[in-house]
Parts: sequence; C-alpha cells; structure tokens
Amino acid sequence: MGIEAALPVDGFVTTQLRRVINFARRNSLWPMPFATACCGIELMATACSRFDLARFGAEVMRFSPRQCDLLIVAGRISIKTMPVLQRIYQQMTEPKWVISMGACASTGGVFDTYAVVQGCDQFLPVDVYVPGCPPRPEQLIEGVMAIQRHIEREGMPPPGGKRMPLGIAIQPTHAPRPQPVGLTLGS
Ligand code: SF4
Repeated sequence: MGIEAALPVDGFVTTQLRRVINFARRNSLWPMPFATACCGIELMATACSRFDLARFGAEVMRFSPRQCDLLIVAGRISIKTMPVLQRIYQQMTEPKWVISMGACASTGGVFDTYAVVQGCDQFLPVDVYVPGCPPRPEQLIEGVMAIQRHIEREGMPPPGGKRMPLGIAIQPTHAPRPQPVGLTLGS
C-alpha cells in the first residue's frame, strides 16, 4: 500500500491503547439493515460501487443481529413490526448504535395512521437522524461518519453498558425549491 515506503517498517510507534482500539472500532462498523420501504433502495445504493460505503469500513452488512453493531432503520415501522425490531436491537452486540434513516423512520412521515409508529425513537435509542424522503446516500454516509467521529472521541465503552443516545440530527444537503413549482404545458 506504499506505507512501508513512508515509514520505517523495522521501527515502532508509541500511542495509547485506547486510540488504537477506537481506531479499529471506528473503521469496522457492521450495519444491520432494517429496510421496510423505499429508503431501503437508497441504503442499497449507499453500499454499491458509486457511493461505496466500504470506503468507511461499514459495508459488511450482516443479517444476523449478533454480528452487528449499527442498526439502520430505513422505512416506516408498523405497530406489528415494532416488537420484531425491538428484539433485533436487543440481540445486537454492545456497544451499538442506531441510525434512523428518512422521514418515515424518524417521524412516521406522511403515514399518520393508527398502524404506523410515529418515529422509531419511541422504542429505540436513536443516535443519528438522517433527514429526507428519501435521504441521498451522501447523507446516510454523513450519518455513519457522525458515529465514527463519536467513537474516535469517546473513551472505552463501559462493559455491557449502553450510554445515552447521541441524538444527532444531520443537516439537509440541499434547499428545496419554492412550491408550487411553475407548470409549463406544451412546447
Ligand atoms: S421517508 Fe420517503 S422514501 Fe423513505 S420510506 Fe418514507 S416515503 Fe419512502
């Protein structure tokens, strides 16, 4: 990788063990995708070659919660689905994080009905809210990076203990056009 040309390979470096461990944790988040609707398509795009989540070490999607430490909720959660998602979260390994991706996951979106939970933070400790309907892959990546920044700064996690949810809201990356947009008919 060229690093051997820049550094004396027979030498040694000194650092804090905490920094090394957090460096490894930061760059090896394993997401648990929980996609129930259209936001899931953007989640898939984020992992594909154009946006390449692998650049951030977070492309190893697992469908077994015991192997995951980053839950990405993408789409609306119905009352019926809620206990399933709760169980998945409980089975994930500590320390773990939660990203709420899109308007539906964060607030229920336009689905203000009796069957839809009005935000997964009503039953999960959400760390990062990614806005949009759907959010672009860059915004989801920004959400992952927000968690990475936190891991880099924090000390060692308490054994088996969950800290408070971070509650970070990612800013939109664009300004919406004024509505309604002018309509042109014909040529
Ligand atoms: S926020 Fe929009 S794109 Fe995402 S699941 Fe809801 S309706 Fe679909």
